[in-house]
Amino acid sequence: EGERLDARTQRSRETYARASAHLAGGVASSYQLRDPWPIYLEGGQGPRVRDVDGNEYWDFHNGFGSMVQGHAHPAIGEAVAGRYPLGTHFAAPTEDAIVVGDELARRFGLPKWRYTNSGSESTMDAIRIARAYTGRDTVMKIFGSYHGHHDTVMVSIGVEYDKIGDPDNLASLPYGAGIPQAVVDMTVAVPFNDAGAMERRMQRLEQEGRLPACVIMEAAMMNLGVVLPEPGYLEAVREITSRYGVVLIFDEVKTGLCIAPGGATEKFGVTPDMVTLAKALGGGLPAGAIGGSAEVMAVVEDGSVYQVGTYNGNPLTMAAARASLLDVLTPEAYAHLDRLNDRIVSGCQDIVDRYGLPGYAVGIGSKGCVTFSPQKVVDYESFKANQDADLSELAWLFNMNRGIFMTPGREEEWTLSVTHTDEAIDAYLACFEELARDLTA
Ligand code: PMP
Repeated sequence: EGERLDARTQRSRETYARASAHLAGGVASSYQLRDPWPIYLEGGQGPRVRDVDGNEYWDFHNGFGSMVQGHAHPAIGEAVAGRYPLGTHFAAPTEDAIVVGDELARRFGLPKWRYTNSGSESTMDAIRIARAYTGRDTVMKIFGSYHGHHDTVMVSIGVEYDKIGDPDNLASLPYGAGIPQAVVDMTVAVPFNDAGAMERRMQRLEQEGRLPACVIMEAAMMNLGVVLPEPGYLEAVREITSRYGVVLIFDEVKTGLCIAPGGATEKFGVTPDMVTLAKALGGGLPAGAIGGSAEVMAVVEDGSVYQVGTYNGNPLTMAAARASLLDVLTPEAYAHLDRLNDRIVSGCQDIVDRYGLPGYAVGIGSKGCVTFSPQKVVDYESFKANQDADLSELAWLFNMNRGIFMTPGREEEWTLSVTHTDEAIDAYLACFEELARDLTA
């Protein structure tokens, strides 16, 4: 399958050679790297994308879930085109920023909002706000979770299995070079779905006089496929963080706006102190947001924390976000996503069962995946111990060769868009069944 994909993407190979002259590694972001070369895209409309070789795909990658609106949505196009002649940047607030804030407050049940331009900026600022609010430095995160590329959170992700350690004493390891050890030491990690381990870690940190400022987590992990919270887990986390005076941040960069109108916060019914958003908020433009309770966000309102950025609340971005929230991601759109996702998840599970594949299908809202693991994955350790990486790689190549565009990592999930139809789901299921048939022939 690898050779087949190479043969189909010769233009990408040439483009890679040209791109490598002045783009480091031939790409704009390390997450776009791929061996032997990245697949360069030319464009996309609705649920379809096209690469530079002219191959057409159903897009199940959707820009890591940023494009839940589908590509080139007319409502977002009109909003952006309508804004352009009025001026695109003042670094002064505009009307759309207010409307977007009102809508986010309504959806997430948190009263105070600020904007950023990416998920990384959102989590970076949220952590600073939590540190200011609590007067503490330590940050607690979930082992294996990704929260963006700033130093504090580039810790305890992508860790090899032999370095994981016991659940009560998980390694704090930098993800890549260039991260100061002093920063790494300030971030501690606990396993997902294990409230007991979180409680014990809190007790130890309290004894050491370094309780965390915050717990930053995804309510459902979205970088190991999809890992849902076990019943009662989020409620326990809420109780523990409240009891220790720790700010609970739900990083909803992936879940927010994609799994329900009010993200994981609405879906699971547990209200954090802060929410971070990005990705789908801008409908393809670089928007991010932070929401918080009045108490926590008071450190921004009273001026003790500078939550700043030249492009925060950029008019073009806000016009896209407004159209996205009010015109595209409507209740009907979420009902459509839920219906299609139910179909694809149950269709994949049916294929897994019929062919006896080592895995299971899981999904929520617009997101889902087949996890190739004989055991249920509940956290990073069980993912690392059980995921069949070779089969995941093969499934990826198989999809790409049959016109199903997937996230570059083998640890990511699909995201459907509101423009996906039953035809797209049929195509995915047909491809998956062909893989299952080949594997078991
Ligand atoms: N948080 C989560 C949960 C993410 O998945 C990501 C990106 N994959 C980020 C933060 C960082 O977002 P960005 O890439 O926009 O900086």
